[in-house]
Amino acid sequence: MQVIEQVSAIRAKVQELRCSGKTIGLVPTMGALHEGHLQLLRASAQQNDITICSIFVNPTQFNNPDDYKLYPRTQVQDVALLQAVACDYLFVPDVEEVYQQQTQLKFSFGALETVMEGAHRPGHFSGVATIVSKLFHYVQPHRAYFGQKDIQQVAIIRQLVDALSFDLELVCYPTVREASGLAMSSRNTRLSQEEREQAAHLYKALQLAKEQLLQGQPVVLVKAEVQRYLHEIKQVALEYFEVADAYTMQPVQDAHETQELALCLAANVGPVRLIDNMLMNLNERNTVTLGIAGTGVA
Ligand code: AMP
Repeated sequence: MQVIEQVSAIRAKVQELRCSGKTIGLVPTMGALHEGHLQLLRASAQQNDITICSIFVNPTQFNNPDDYKLYPRTQVQDVALLQAVACDYLFVPDVEEVYQQQTQLKFSFGALETVMEGAHRPGHFSGVATIVSKLFHYVQPHRAYFGQKDIQQVAIIRQLVDALSFDLELVCYPTVREASGLAMSSRNTRLSQEEREQAAHLYKALQLAKEQLLQGQPVVLVKAEVQRYLHEIKQVALEYFEVADAYTMQPVQDAHETQELALCLAANVGPVRLIDNMLMNLNERNTVTLGIAGTGVA
């Protein structure tokens, strides 16, 4: 695997690869890699001639300076993991080169930005859209890989790709979890053992909500039950729990407004803010037609 730091070098490499007819898969990450990332990298390696992983802790998407400062940076381990999944290139640009001049450009995603992560992290999705657009321009991938773990981000990037006519295919894979059910996340490394055990209750809360919705409980009662359940867990402070339409990401009051739901939450566990979600279908088909690979429905 070749490590490339300069934007001009990745542009030159990509041009050479494209001229020789190679297909390119891009897996954008912020590093501190885990199985959730590796799943995306393996998929890319299978589906493309060349796989490029980017690692860039993007300052413009952090609305909390401590979160940016304390975000885990583990490049030596990351390189070893990338070599093991046959990644071809690791692209690790400098912040100074990516953001040579401070950009005034702001993205706005309408209704998607008024709910959940959009509402709770002002400016976050504009920062995400900025860096993802830059990476798409630098790397010009045929396919780009993202995780369902950040489901609202996938909706944002889908809108970005459509609106700016990026010529690429978005590929999404399901959330990879620890044995406890805790969604894998780079931020989990900042949890103590006790916090990590408590964080597993976030997944249990999503399971509880799903069961209750399948039993026909009204959304308002399910939300109250999730709040009650997590309130009991020491060191877990729920920020939001929403029952949303899986396509529009808009919260629903009546689960029967739509068949396909995304149950989404954010919570602080000790010092760390975590998000998680679960897709469900009220018909109990258990698959949701979001184009997420591995869920059985295209
Ligand atoms: P990050 O490094 O956290 O920015 O994540 C990079 C990509 O990996 C994003 O598309 C995430 O949605 C995806 N990802 C992160 N954690 C997981 C996970 N547990 N399962 C599946 N995909 C994930």
